Amino acid sequence: MPMTVLMLQHISRRFPDTRMPGAHIPAVEDVSLRLPSGEVLAVLGPSGCGKSTLLRIIAGLLTPDRGSVLYDNVPLDQIPLAERGVGMVFQEGALIPHWEARKNIGFFLWLRHRENEVPERVRRIAQITGFGMEALLDRKPRQLSGGERQRVGVARALARDPRIFLFDEPFSNLDAKLRTQARVELRRLLNAFPVTSVYVTHDQVEAMALADRIAVMRAGRLEQIGSYQALHDNPVNLFVASFIGLHPINLFEGHAGEHQWLGPCFSGLPLRGDLPSDMRVTLGLRPAHIRLAAASTPGAVAAQVETTTPFFAERHLMLEVIAGETRFSFATPIDSGIRPGDTVHCAAESAGALFFDSGSGQRIG
Ligand code: ADP
Ligand code: MG
Repeated sequence: MPMTVLMLQHISRRFPDTRMPGAHIPAVEDVSLRLPSGEVLAVLGPSGCGKSTLLRIIAGLLTPDRGSVLYDNVPLDQIPLAERGVGMVFQEGALIPHWEARKNIGFFLWLRHRENEVPERVRRIAQITGFGMEALLDRKPRQLSGGERQRVGVARALARDPRIFLFDEPFSNLDAKLRTQARVELRRLLNAFPVTSVYVTHDQVEAMALADRIAVMRAGRLEQIGSYQALHDNPVNLFVASFIGLHPINLFEGHAGEHQWLGPCFSGLPLRGDLPSDMRVTLGLRPAHIRLAAASTPGAVAAQVETTTPFFAERHLMLEVIAGETRFSFATPIDSGIRPGDTVHCAAESAGALFFDSGSGQRIG
């Protein structure tokens, strides 16, 4: 299968703001990226941050105001439509209603008068996705569930032998269990037929499961790109720190002291010494970086437990606590027996402390 290196150079695109004549919405702002051949990149961000606009630009469906898209170093606008080989899967499958799944899957080969290749390709795709697919092949879209329609949509995009595979939240309408199944199936397909892919989603679990790297977007801009672990452990700013993480990060407003952070609790955590004293600094602590401690531990924080939430798969009990007027949460072993109303003592792991300039949100330590 052909594989393509995808490059984006300083892509920007604005739309007229319908609510304010003359004003513009910067949907995508100066985005640059390079995807090596066969890489799966997830573009992750909240609704409205410009993910679909960026994907449509990559697909050649929308022209950027500035910047260029290159497939294997050739600008997209110099590649004839028939040679672009973009396989795209949208949220709504967009299948042809009166055709059986088998014919829908073979659509692009049929378009190019390569019908004879259809049966073999469909058979291989069905084989890799599992038994489920075989049974779907002779049904029409209205005889398929939402999840099945999306799977046929993926198979169809793959059957055209794409150079680039683009997904726009294809599974977001499915319920949680189906979404997990569809994700596993897609990962299996991408392992069997590696294709350079961009997968747009607002769901970090999906991004984590499918992608080699994740690009986090906010308000048209690319904030950070890296593995899930890198984004989680080393976020460049408050936005990425808050957006990434299955349990929300705890944030504490405070300020810089001499080589330490000073705030409402966990005061005294070591902080670099070159910051202006009294500079406003936000401390970020993930729930995993706070743990129960003996009351006598230096710096231990006494807190009242307000609620407890069990997470059975992770074998831990999440405590939501209040210390003075500050609320935060952290995880204890599931059998810790702690109940709402209890007083607990806890300490922060300084290795997990993340510091941010409260004004700009940029990471400073
Ligand atoms: P996402 O896919 O991340 O939800 P979009 O790329 O769809 O975000 O949209 C980004 C921003 O651009 C939004 O503010 C959206 O309202 C605006 N936008 C997108 N497409 C158009 C359009 N055709 N005309 C005007 N505004 C648009
Ligand atoms: Mg979108």
